Amino acid sequence: MIPAYLNDELDAGELREFLDHIDKCGECREELAIQFLITEGLNSLSTGDSYDLKHAMDDRVSKSRSQIKLHDRLLGVRNVAVALVGGVLLASAYMVYYYLF
Ligand SMILES: [Zn+2]
Repeated sequence: MIPAYLNDELDAGELREFLDHIDKCGECREELAIQFLITEGLNSLSTGDSYDLKHAMDDRVSKSRSQIKLHDRLLGVRNVAVALVGGVLLASAYMVYYYLF
């Protein structure tokens, strides 16, 4: 899952699972750090950039977390919208019923 994460290949559900797991599992956190260092380290070697890789990884993980938060918020907004539309439909159905009978 770590290479998929680093390649941005996880969907929202998988990303959440992954981040939760990384929170609890020191081994995988370590593994992520190592793979991140290797991937990013090679990239920065080829571009000639030298930057703080540890900091870059923390950045990366916290960006993923806010992605998940945004995803949850959008989902919440969608649920409210669905509830509103449902309520309006129900009200109109009730009004139609009321006028007809
Ligand atoms: Zn683990």
